[in-house]
Amino acid sequence: MDDCIFCQIVAGDIPARVVYEDEDVLAFLDANPLAPGHTLVIPKTHYETLDEVPPEPGEMMFAAVHYLTPIVEDAVDADGSNIGFNNGAAAGQEVPHVHGHIVPRFEDDGGSPIHAVAG
Ligand code: 5GP
Repeated sequence: MDDCIFCQIVAGDIPARVVYEDEDVLAFLDANPLAPGHTLVIPKTHYETLDEVPPEPGEMMFAAVHYLTPIVEDAVDADGSNIGFNNGAAAGQEVPHVHGHIVPRFEDDGGSPIHAVAG
């Protein structure tokens, strides 16, 4: 999609700090990180929300999250991480190209667990 920021990153038209790439998936550092190493994982093909993603690209995306999480944690010496998807505008999704967040966490960093949003 021409007007999609993340499609433009996939196309190389907008610069990004790419940390991983394969045929189906791109991962890059978030431009406004919640923590050092905050990484976004996207399918290269444009899907707006998770329910639009066919099984195979979905599996590739989750496999990349699984593969990258310990690498991202090691890279910034994190103690853990929050893995999350803001799925749909009602859930706070600002960029309408499905993406997973890997947010490294550190002991006593003062952040909130994901379940805090529902609590
Ligand atoms: P959302 O709220 O949609 O789940 O998260 C979108 C994320 O994309 C935000 O964390 C935001 O900082 C990040 N973001 C938005 N525009 C850009 C961009 O042009 N480049 C990069 N690297 N990240 C972006």
